[in-house]
Amino acid sequence: MRFSEAFIYTSKEAPSDATLPSHIYLVRGGFIQGIGAGLYNFLPLGKKVLDKIRAIVKDELDKASAQEVDLAFVTPSELWKESGRFEKYGKELLRFKDRKDAEFVLGPTHEEMMVNMVRQYVKSYKQLPINLYQIKYKFRDEIRPRFGLMRGREFLMKDGYSFHKDEADMIENGFNKMEKTYSNIFTRLGLDFRVVEADSGAIGGNGSKEFMALADSGEDTIVVCKGCDYGANIEAAKRVPKTEPIYPEGEEVEMNYGKFHTPNVKTIDELSSFFHIDKYYTVKAVAKKALYDNNIEKVVLFFIRGCDELEETKATNAVNANELIDVSEDELIDLGLIPGFIGLEGLPKDILAVVDSELKGADKLIIGSNEKDYHTIGFQLPDYGDFYRDLIKVQEGDKCPNCQNELYYTKGIEIGHIFQLGTRYSEPLKAEFLDENGKSRPFVMGTYGIGVSRLLAAIIEQHHDDKGCIWTKATAPFDLEIIVSNIKKEDELKIADELYNNLKSKGIDTLLDDRKERFGFKMKDFELIGIPYAVIVGKKITDGMVEIVDRKTLEKEEVTLDSAVDRVLELIK
Ligand code: ATP
Ligand code: MG
Repeated sequence: MRFSEAFIYTSKEAPSDATLPSHIYLVRGGFIQGIGAGLYNFLPLGKKVLDKIRAIVKDELDKASAQEVDLAFVTPSELWKESGRFEKYGKELLRFKDRKDAEFVLGPTHEEMMVNMVRQYVKSYKQLPINLYQIKYKFRDEIRPRFGLMRGREFLMKDGYSFHKDEADMIENGFNKMEKTYSNIFTRLGLDFRVVEADSGAIGGNGSKEFMALADSGEDTIVVCKGCDYGANIEAAKRVPKTEPIYPEGEEVEMNYGKFHTPNVKTIDELSSFFHIDKYYTVKAVAKKALYDNNIEKVVLFFIRGCDELEETKATNAVNANELIDVSEDELIDLGLIPGFIGLEGLPKDILAVVDSELKGADKLIIGSNEKDYHTIGFQLPDYGDFYRDLIKVQEGDKCPNCQNELYYTKGIEIGHIFQLGTRYSEPLKAEFLDENGKSRPFVMGTYGIGVSRLLAAIIEQHHDDKGCIWTKATAPFDLEIIVSNIKKEDELKIADELYNNLKSKGIDTLLDDRKERFGFKMKDFELIGIPYAVIVGKKITDGMVEIVDRKTLEKEEVTLDSAVDRVLELIK
């Protein structure tokens, strides 16, 4: 491609709301154009990168025997009603009607559509397993679209779905196979990533893993171990249960059960200083309002140790809610609760209480008495009951559940997600097959997503400097750029042209910067766009020499014109 003929327009101006390098450089470099909150046009450079990523995704999936399909983007809402998600999905789901008043949604994900397709054709275990995918735009009316391609409203996703006769087959021929395939894809793209345990929603279990591109700008906090390869999203992270603080001999904590007058002592800080005791021994009640389908709301009390924090996703799953929101003190008082003194004994009826699993059987606790200005000390929780759930946010310094070493936080960008779905969709949608014994069974499914357009952002977050993008070889919009230093010098242009044609004939995708601009200006564009290498045809051509610049290091290497092609081939292969 000749730059002088290309639809490539770089700019010095970054979008006013842009904070991340990927957002700034993708816009300034002429890869994408913002046209509204979370909506982007892909310009030729961006489209080339997107297609390269897409091709790698497709190649690896096809190798794993997955088959590509392309489903309608506009989805009849009946399917979403069958699965029960029409209500549940909330405002992210764009719903609309056509001229005949029929209801539709713009697919934010395609489980229903895919199950609907497969149930019409697959009737026997002999047709299983099947793995189908598409690479297609999705629409989610995100509450806070931001960071450019990172969190768009319309974005390109690879979404895959596998169908199996039983769970064992889904794990082996679906989930595990896709884990391997995804690792291959992200390795080929040149990303530094980690596979972590993820939240499985209300389904629970260990059936969900996320692929995280490691980057300080990542929106996800991931918990990783100093000693082993344990990694988990904070929403799903586990730890070795906290143990009693170590006190010098003879100073161990002892408590007899009883009520204690604690006037105005409301917060955990106040409580721990009032009793001169570690927060480990205190219990706090975190009140939230849980939201359910059909506008049902319910106040829930989550009881955790005073030294811990509530993890909202875990808490949401614990009560099967769609969402948790804050609740005011006045609302609590109306329900008969006494903020600052809430405990487990003597709670008003109808109040739902969930207790953190680590408190199961715990004793020597200080907790509110549900009475103004009173706390109960020496409180003990029973070792039974079904109101215990994992509720706490793992903290840095907690111990790894695998190897007991120290855990710490790092940041990641979710680029992929694989999920053991089971029969969550096949059951309500009555997608069934006949097993070996002629018995009808719902398909056991897996679902697998990759944020294809988000990958452009993730790659730049990991590969940039203060001048612009540094694309990996597998994802660069061009393999090489040739810069004509002084366009007015006919010999420079002529040699650059010959070199360009020569490289093109060897299959090297080259951008020839033949614009009538100053050398410095062209060099700045090369740095901003981030093509891995440039050959500069300049003054030294009179001595038969050209320069090769490595975008990553910006180091220059002089080579003879005759050897330039071979050297380029060597570098970019
Ligand atoms: P997130 O937690 O980032 O909102 P998600 O868990 O809702 O993502 P999935 O439903 O698992 O996303 O979608 C599969 C993949 O699609 C994600 O792993 C992510 O890479 C990508 N993705 C999701 N939402 C967006 C978005 N708004 N913009 C760009 N890519 C997205
Ligand atoms: Mg996800």
